[in-house]
Amino acid sequence: MQEAQEDNLHQTLLDLKVKTSVLEVPQVEREKMTSRTMEMVNTYDDNIRNLTWGPVKTSDQGSLPAVDEIEEGPSEYELVMQDFNAHLVNAGVNPGHPTFFGAIPTGGGTYPASLGAFIPATFATYSGVHLKRTSIVEMENKLITWVADLFGYPAGHAGNISSGGSLATLTALAVAWDSRELKAADFHRCVIYCSEFAHDAVKKGLRAVGMREATLRTVQVDKLFKMTAAALERQILEDKKAGLLPFLVAATVGTTLTGSVDPVNDIADVCDRHQLWLHVDAAYGGFFALCDEVKQLFAGVERSDSIVVNPHKGLFVPCGVGVLVVKDGKKLQQCCSMDHTPTYFRGAPMFSAEHLSPSELSFELTRPFRGAQMWLPLKMFGVGVFREALKEKLLLARYLYGKLKETGQFELPLEPKLTVVLFRATAPPGVDSNNFNQQLFDGLNSDGKIFMTPAVLSDQFYLRVCVLCFRTHIEHLDLCFSLIQEKRLHIWELLRCDA
Ligand SMILES: *Cc1c(COP(=O)(O)O)cnc(C)c1O
Repeated sequence: MQEAQEDNLHQTLLDLKVKTSVLEVPQVEREKMTSRTMEMVNTYDDNIRNLTWGPVKTSDQGSLPAVDEIEEGPSEYELVMQDFNAHLVNAGVNPGHPTFFGAIPTGGGTYPASLGAFIPATFATYSGVHLKRTSIVEMENKLITWVADLFGYPAGHAGNISSGGSLATLTALAVAWDSRELKAADFHRCVIYCSEFAHDAVKKGLRAVGMREATLRTVQVDKLFKMTAAALERQILEDKKAGLLPFLVAATVGTTLTGSVDPVNDIADVCDRHQLWLHVDAAYGGFFALCDEVKQLFAGVERSDSIVVNPHKGLFVPCGVGVLVVKDGKKLQQCCSMDHTPTYFRGAPMFSAEHLSPSELSFELTRPFRGAQMWLPLKMFGVGVFREALKEKLLLARYLYGKLKETGQFELPLEPKLTVVLFRATAPPGVDSNNFNQQLFDGLNSDGKIFMTPAVLSDQFYLRVCVLCFRTHIEHLDLCFSLIQEKRLHIWELLRCDA
């Protein structure tokens, strides 16, 4: 009986081995998959370079096939790939496209950066724990130090490479309150300061770390949409008088909507005087610190306690890579590491006091080797070309600004500090300006040649162009400018006839 059962189990295991052997894809099949993949990638690349598809697939949005169901059995490889390709090509708006000027162009991965996502995925690279000096952790540490150096942080910092700015911000907020030894019972008295242009990642992060009850104070901005340090200090003094606990200031270097840059040096003075944690959100603007032309905008960032920067924006890597650096690395470690070895690692030397693991410096344990997406492009291209590419984006924004200004037909509230251009067209007499610009905006976005998102400032409707894709060059801004001119004239004539 016992023996029969054992035979049975043995046979079952052999059967299952055969049935699951398809998971081990043989070389010939792999080559087929790889060449099919390269075909897809090359077609995409060609089309995107030649602008033969728009960022918005307006034409076939309606006729898109429904997304398949997941089924018990396998599907034909070629059919799956065709379908997959069709869905990716028709993925709506593509923020990695050279004429994507909306929000912040994100995730336009250079080829080596894309390989940085692919190669570690095939190697099953695990980078959560240091596992006896895993060199990929060393590589990520080098990258974090490179970022820390860029902003002038001294030795003693620590950081992690997370999935993006939002998660990095959440972690920074957690470290800030943990190191301040705040009690949850005091959260309702805590005050966090930022401008109205701060990213919602701050608000979401506060909720995630349990500080929903804290007050998020919107500090007054000046005419250039920058937080005013004097207003900040006035507010802190008032809050202190009212028995509240001023706790943290989130300054933004490159606000998402306007590209404005808060005066970090002045804000750091206020934070010093009142012993507040200074967090710098440079998710969008951070890598412009590579450019001498705008380096002065970063003055004082070295005085902050934490900083967030998004390689999936300014370093042109695929979506899913954000960096947090905390100046006093011990605080990050204290917040994120356990004071004991977890039961599932006990008895095996997974952690070492000498070499910290990413999982001791973030809330993740298992994580992909995200650093590869920065490492490969930075090594293969060198830093210099990123400096040039970012300088090109700065100048492209100024180029468009200059061209719009020259016509005398647009209101331009702000000379671009980084790469956001805000404008609205002067409306014909008797026509409401918001209505006119809304129509201009709708006209520009409707044919899929370019994509932008608007900016509503004090109830005034503005159009907004943000330049950050590595593929965006002068011809794309020329196209953008001529479309703006053409549509403006068209709507002007229409409305004038109506009036
Ligand atoms: C994009 C952005 C964020 C959020 O980053 P994600 O990577 O999208 O989570 C935060 N702050 C600013 C200023 C941003 O532009």
